[in-house]
Amino acid sequence: MQVKQGVRFKTFSPVMLWMLNALYLYSRRVSYDIVITSANDGHVLPSRHVKDEALDIRSKNIPSSDEKLRFIDIMHFMLGPYVTIILEDENKDNEHFHMQAKKGSDFPGILRP
Ligand SMILES: [Zn+2]
Repeated sequence: MQVKQGVRFKTFSPVMLWMLNALYLYSRRVSYDIVITSANDGHVLPSRHVKDEALDIRSKNIPSSDEKLRFIDIMHFMLGPYVTIILEDENKDNEHFHMQAKKGSDFPGILRP
């Protein structure tokens, strides 16, 4: 797992750590690099990036559209109902995954009872 140069993390919120954990675990299972291209940088309110609750992930290095769908499915499976994942600007220059805390969801934290 890699972080693009210039990406800024400000605060590690619980949901941010939850997302990073899933990305790290999945990165060990795939042949391509999982690259974070934005955290708390390059966005303005009301973007969840500014609240340390969103990440952008490079998608254009993923070898097929099936693999991109699989990435979304696996992330949904690992992250549960607390996180939304979308492929933004599909087939355009700026295509990337955006993942963020789901609106209205109250993330319970990393440790489960
Ligand atoms: Zn984003």
